[in-house]
Amino acid sequence: MSRIIFMNDHLVPEEQAVVSVFDHGLLYGDGVFEGLRSYAGKVFRLDDHLDRLYASARAICLEIPLAKAAVAKAVVDTLAANNLADGYVRLVVTRGAGSLGLDPNKTKHPQVIVIADTISLYPREFYEKGLRIVTAATQRTQSAALSPRIKSLNYLNNIMAKLEGLQAGCVEALMLNHKGEVAECTGDNVFVIRGGKLLTPPPDAGILEGITRGAVMELAGAAGIECREVALVRHDLYTAEECFLTGTAAEVIPVVEIDGRKVGAAVPGPITKRLTADFHALVRR
Ligand code: PMP
Repeated sequence: MSRIIFMNDHLVPEEQAVVSVFDHGLLYGDGVFEGLRSYAGKVFRLDDHLDRLYASARAICLEIPLAKAAVAKAVVDTLAANNLADGYVRLVVTRGAGSLGLDPNKTKHPQVIVIADTISLYPREFYEKGLRIVTAATQRTQSAALSPRIKSLNYLNNIMAKLEGLQAGCVEALMLNHKGEVAECTGDNVFVIRGGKLLTPPPDAGILEGITRGAVMELAGAAGIECREVALVRHDLYTAEECFLTGTAAEVIPVVEIDGRKVGAAVPGPITKRLTADFHALVRR
C-alpha cells in the first residue's frame, strides 16, 4: 500500500516524494529531524517536538521554511491522510539541494518532509522480560565536536555504537561520553533506580534531551518518586536496583542485563513497571 507523504507544502503519493541527489541532507547528513508518535489520534507532545526541531535547526543555521503551526498541521494531516490513529511520524528538514561542497550557503530550498507509518522498535518479549545491552566502545560525540542535543540527520555516531550492540547480539547499546560517564543509548535515554530514587544523566553528559525522558521525570514526580539528574558511571548501572530506557519509538523498556551483569533481580522491577503503566496512561489521556 502506497503511503501519503507531506513534501514542503502538499501531500503526495510516496512514489512522488523524492529529493534531489544534490540535497545536502543526503550528501552530508546536513539537516534535522524528529520522531513523533500519535496515540488514539492525538500526537504526543507535538509542541515539545516542534520546539526541539526548531532549536536543532537554529543550532545549525537552518531556516525552516514553514512556521511551527504549519508544520504541526502537516504532521496531523499526514497521519490523517494515512488513516493512522496510532502511528509514528518522521519529520525531516534537509538543507536542500546545493553544489558539491560543504557550504550550506550554496544550497537552496530546505525540504520539509513528513512520513507517517507504524513502528514496533523492539519485540514484545523485551518489554515483558527486559533487554540485554552492552557498552559500545564508540563514545558519544563531545558537544565541542557535535552537540548530542542537536537531533541532526548525521546519526553515524549512534549507528557505529548500534552496530557494536548488534554484533554482540543486543538490540541496544550503551554509549559513554569522553569522560567515561554514561550518556545514553543509541536511540534512547537511560534511567536507573538506586535506593528507590530515579537517576538519569544530565544534559551536559552528552545526551539528546528526550521528550519521553521529560515525561517520565514528570510522572515520577507525580508518583512521589524522587528523580535526580546526576553523572553516572557504569558501576552505577551494574549495581542499580532497576534500569530502563525511554524513547518515542521504544516508549519505556526495562533493561535486565548490562555487559553480562544482571541488573537487580534481572527482571523488570516495580518502579519500572509503575512508570511504564503511568506512561501508557499518560499517552492515552
Ligand atoms: N537519545 C537519542 C540519541 C535519540 O535518538 C532519541 C530519540 N530516538 C532519544 C534519546 C529519545 O528521545 P525522545 O524521547 O524524544 O524520542
